[in-house]
Amino acid sequence: MTMGLCKKNLPVRGKYKDISEKKCYREDGHEGECKEFPYLSDLSVSHPRVTNKIKRDATKTTGAAWKSEDAGPNRIDRWVMLQSDDVLKNYGLDMVALKPGVVAKLREKAATYDDCMDVAARLTLLAYQMPDAPPCPADTRTYLESRFSPMVEGSTTCIVCKEPLSFSLFENAQRGKAEIETAHSNPREHNQNNVGFAHRECNIAQGNKTVEEFYGWISGILDRIDRT
Ligand SMILES: [Zn+2]
Ligand SMILES: [Zn+2]
Repeated sequence: MTMGLCKKNLPVRGKYKDISEKKCYREDGHEGECKEFPYLSDLSVSHPRVTNKIKRDATKTTGAAWKSEDAGPNRIDRWVMLQSDDVLKNYGLDMVALKPGVVAKLREKAATYDDCMDVAARLTLLAYQMPDAPPCPADTRTYLESRFSPMVEGSTTCIVCKEPLSFSLFENAQRGKAEIETAHSNPREHNQNNVGFAHRECNIAQGNKTVEEFYGWISGILDRIDRT
């Protein structure tokens, strides 16, 4: 069963507010105030960093590694990237002035608001299904199960190497980089069927390939060095 959602429009702030959107994702006909991320209420108190990562990775393009004129904007709503060059120029973002590689990278991160919100909820379910995850509160569990599927504790694996993923990896960081990353089976798509978590090193190894292309590449190498 799929739950109906409120989807009432909520106020949007910031530079791109006229071309952005924000909706309530509580169940249809709910009591009390509207909320965009109702299923993250508990995690935001117990694990604010994990919560912010889920929200950021679900909804924002990746940041430019350094600040410069042609490096592109740092973290922008993915759905804003669906707008044309002409529209974006009205909001002070001149896509034509950016390097083609930067433009391609920004454009391939584009996704609808609804897809991004599905991704956030799916990532939350996956985080709660890690073997050592904090217990999922009953109302959040009911909510996530009615949007997706029954929760199976300990079932979340790295989407690349398929080893179980430990929740503790969210907190382990080396040189400021978490050991766990949001990953895509196809890096050029961003929707709930395509996202998951991966070890940082697995995500880096996968690079721009789909996981299937990555496995093909690895097995080719193993064949050539006669290890299979
Ligand atoms: Zn609402
Ligand atoms: Zn892995």
